[in-house]
Amino acid sequence: MSETQTFHDFGLHDTLLRAIAEMGYEKPTPIQVKAIPLVLAGSDVMGAAQTGTGKTASFGLPLLARLLSFANTSASPARHPVRALVLTPTRELADQVHENLSAYAKYTGLRTACVFGGVDIRTQEGQLRRGVEVVVATPGRLLDHVEQRNITLSQVQIVVLDEADRMLDMGFLPDISRILKLLPVARQSLMFSATFSPEIKKLAGNFLNNPKLVEVARENSTAKTITQKVYEVHDSEKVDALLEILDDEACEDAKNILVFVNSKISCRRLARTLEKYGIQSDAIHGDKTQEERLKTLDAFKKGEVKVLVATDVAARGLDIADLPVVINFDVPFNAEDYVHRIGRTGRAGSKGLAITLMCPGADEKNLVAIETLTKQHFSRNRLDVRARRRPGRGPRKVYTPPPVSPVSSDPFFDQPYEPSVPQPQEPVATPVKPTRGAKEEKKAPVAALLGGLIRR
Ligand code: AMP
Repeated sequence: MSETQTFHDFGLHDTLLRAIAEMGYEKPTPIQVKAIPLVLAGSDVMGAAQTGTGKTASFGLPLLARLLSFANTSASPARHPVRALVLTPTRELADQVHENLSAYAKYTGLRTACVFGGVDIRTQEGQLRRGVEVVVATPGRLLDHVEQRNITLSQVQIVVLDEADRMLDMGFLPDISRILKLLPVARQSLMFSATFSPEIKKLAGNFLNNPKLVEVARENSTAKTITQKVYEVHDSEKVDALLEILDDEACEDAKNILVFVNSKISCRRLARTLEKYGIQSDAIHGDKTQEERLKTLDAFKKGEVKVLVATDVAARGLDIADLPVVINFDVPFNAEDYVHRIGRTGRAGSKGLAITLMCPGADEKNLVAIETLTKQHFSRNRLDVRARRRPGRGPRKVYTPPPVSPVSSDPFFDQPYEPSVPQPQEPVATPVKPTRGAKEEKKAPVAALLGGLIRR
């Protein structure tokens, strides 16, 4: 494929070309160049593409192109059976993928819908019952609709598993197997994953038929457009280190900064702390309702919230166009999460900065795992951290020796005190007692660390 390929070269219908021109897409990204012709030709595809590469359009545009002949204006639901199904691991990703697909489908006459848990099922029910050609869904809620007979999947021609690696991590395999059994055997299947573990390869073996492999980056690699930095800081210095980084030029100029933490508790706490320092921030985690999350995300996109503190699951699928900086306040436990986290920046060829704070010793093992996975070495830089005045707590106490009484005439007590063992010049700062939250963080169950249990 030549470098100068345009969307016209794929032979896409004018209705689709018009929509993508409106979205400002000028030329296809590498994954689009590779995947669009294959999907148009009806092949099964296994796409090794990280978030931000333009993978949604790489399956979405040809998927819509293949369904164009079914577009009709009939009011009868029977004339609008579900013909394409896109499964995603999280609500946010479902919402994001649907937002893109409905924008691409704007002039096609094809109907699209998005179904995910955590919101009232009745609104979705009405939409599905009216008939819809393309459904984007999270597995649990889709099965709820199947059980309630709001949807039939017997006419699905194209199925997409998006972020398949995350689906497996989140334990969706049984749900996916149930859903796949409801689909016709003769269908086109597409699977996208940022990482390729043996489990993913096994799933691909069962799910795809003679798939064409489409790769745009080395396995588990991180985009070259992202500058990655690692700073060594002690646990007690982390907030000050973050403030230091946020004061830095790259962050000062940034409209949006995404900060990752490993638990919901630290997510809430860190956002509150930053607010106290006058930084507009909010938290996005699994305990928030869907409505709250979308509201937070909207404020973030508008720039009303500068720093969004997120857990891995909550941030999954977040697509924010202008995200120049991602900060790992905590080193992720899972090396693959690092790839996903920093994939939020440097998207579609733009430049990004990813900064990771690591505690020497405690985080070394996880950082080495990231280095092994992404086949790179990080230099551990020291960050000059200034202890800041804690808002609302007054200045930090400085040690001042007690005054020597001028009336004392005892020669022994009038002598300056000379310690027999060397004493520190300044008192050592009282170690910060771990808060209840910090303790809970360690004990938090895995599901909570991943952003909460999946609610149907
Ligand atoms: P995705 O990897 O599908 O999440 O896409 C990442 C971002 O790139 C989204 O904001 C897309 O709208 C955008 N995008 C996808 N394809 C293109 C393209 N060809 N040109 C410009 N932006 C694109």
